[in-house]
Amino acid sequence: MISKIHCTAIKGIDGFLVSVETDVSAGLPTFSIVGLPDTEVKESKDRVASAIRNSGFSFPLKKITVNLSPAKIKKSGSHYDLAIAIGILSATNQLSENAKEKISTSVFVAELGLDGHIKPASGILPMLMAIKEGKGKQINSVFLSYDNLNEAIISKTQPFCPISLKDLVYFLEGNLTADKLLNTTAAISNEEEKLEVHGLDFSEVKGQSLAKRALEIAAAGSHNILLSGPPGTGKSMLAKRFNTILPPLTHDEALEITRVYSVCNLLGKTKFMDERPFRDPHHTISDIALVGGGSNPRPGEVTLAHNGVLFLDEFAEFSRASLEVLRQPMESFNVTISRAKESVNFPSKFTLIAAMNPCPCGHNGQAERMCRCTPAQINRYKGKISGPLLDRIDLAINLNPVKYGDWKKLSEGESSTNIKERVVKARDIQVERFKNSKTTANAFMTNKEMKQFCKLPDDAGSVLENAMRKLGLSARSLDKILKTARTIADLEGEPDIKSSHIIEVFQYRTMDRKGVAE
Ligand SMILES: [Zn+2]
Repeated sequence: MISKIHCTAIKGIDGFLVSVETDVSAGLPTFSIVGLPDTEVKESKDRVASAIRNSGFSFPLKKITVNLSPAKIKKSGSHYDLAIAIGILSATNQLSENAKEKISTSVFVAELGLDGHIKPASGILPMLMAIKEGKGKQINSVFLSYDNLNEAIISKTQPFCPISLKDLVYFLEGNLTADKLLNTTAAISNEEEKLEVHGLDFSEVKGQSLAKRALEIAAAGSHNILLSGPPGTGKSMLAKRFNTILPPLTHDEALEITRVYSVCNLLGKTKFMDERPFRDPHHTISDIALVGGGSNPRPGEVTLAHNGVLFLDEFAEFSRASLEVLRQPMESFNVTISRAKESVNFPSKFTLIAAMNPCPCGHNGQAERMCRCTPAQINRYKGKISGPLLDRIDLAINLNPVKYGDWKKLSEGESSTNIKERVVKARDIQVERFKNSKTTANAFMTNKEMKQFCKLPDDAGSVLENAMRKLGLSARSLDKILKTARTIADLEGEPDIKSSHIIEVFQYRTMDRKGVAE
């Protein structure tokens, strides 16, 4: 006898419906799963057999074949357990006709413990959203673990959360009422573990007004920025406060982030990702961990930083391979991982803050301290940041140490709240500007949008032309300069880019002078 049960799968951060077909026939006792399952799915067999037996049902000593359809898409994860178990119970007539009718319009997404307990799975949010969006029109009920309830609530799904396989069957047979399975009293709280940014403020950083202004522009237009300077100049102190001046997330942005964290199983038990992520991987990270990959493709740091910030401290210490793989996500705002059978896409629209020393010892160009590096060492160090990578960075500045005598005299800096107010105003202008487009900030403008929104009056045009001739700028540099100038104009509430805006941009373009971190 054959049964057909609905389940879901994940590709990238998108969910879709899968059917679990189970055939139980006479023959030597075997249990096989087909339809491109990975090793994690194959392990399902042992869990399902134990769970069925330990729940008081009988596990058939027959030839069992489970097909996960459509077969062309790779299946991974442990969440097929429940659907497979229900499929076997149905195919071996351990369920009544009434129960079988109920399951024909239900989806089952959970892992099973050996004792039959129903356990949570990763990626529930995008899977439920796929069902909601009508990718599974015939679905009336969703069964999942109580521990995934928060994701169900975010996706506005009202699921059934049985504790065990046994309870679930009781319910399907009409021997247990729905209120025993549903726990709608669970409150979603966002109280626990807040991001590290809390309690930090820009006012704590004294001096470095050029860097602060550059970071304000970066926040206002979502521009990538490179901070270069000796140790102790406050590079990471500034970077760690960057999130405090970013505009709040829209609901859609927050939902996108929550989907990513759901797939990565990084969602706290009751947490909706309503803050911009700040990811700061160590420079020893592998290129796969940075951009994603693996035989069963997983998102990397660039995707975990989606709609937020990727901070790469000691930028020149990252391996050349890691730095080179950053180029694609920075260019296309998503990561494509191609495998023989399929290719997977992950979003990666982040703002990059890179920080580096001017040389391996860190003291090059300083009057007070001697640099011990040879010119060859310095060249090799700076050469790690290749031209094409540098082309994807909009702003680059040098930070100089603040002398102790000067530092004592400096008053407290401007608060994050004040800076954020200006950033939000500038972003509001951009939201209005791009209301009919997918673009969300100036840094992401398409060529067509640049033609429309970055027109230069004559005087500004000639300032730019002169600079281009003198510095021999590439077309890509020109784009970055125009986008950044657009953001400065927005911060001033000016409808047109003026020559003063173009001139200001050149203060944050050390890369156009003498290579990186000159
Ligand atoms: Zn040095």
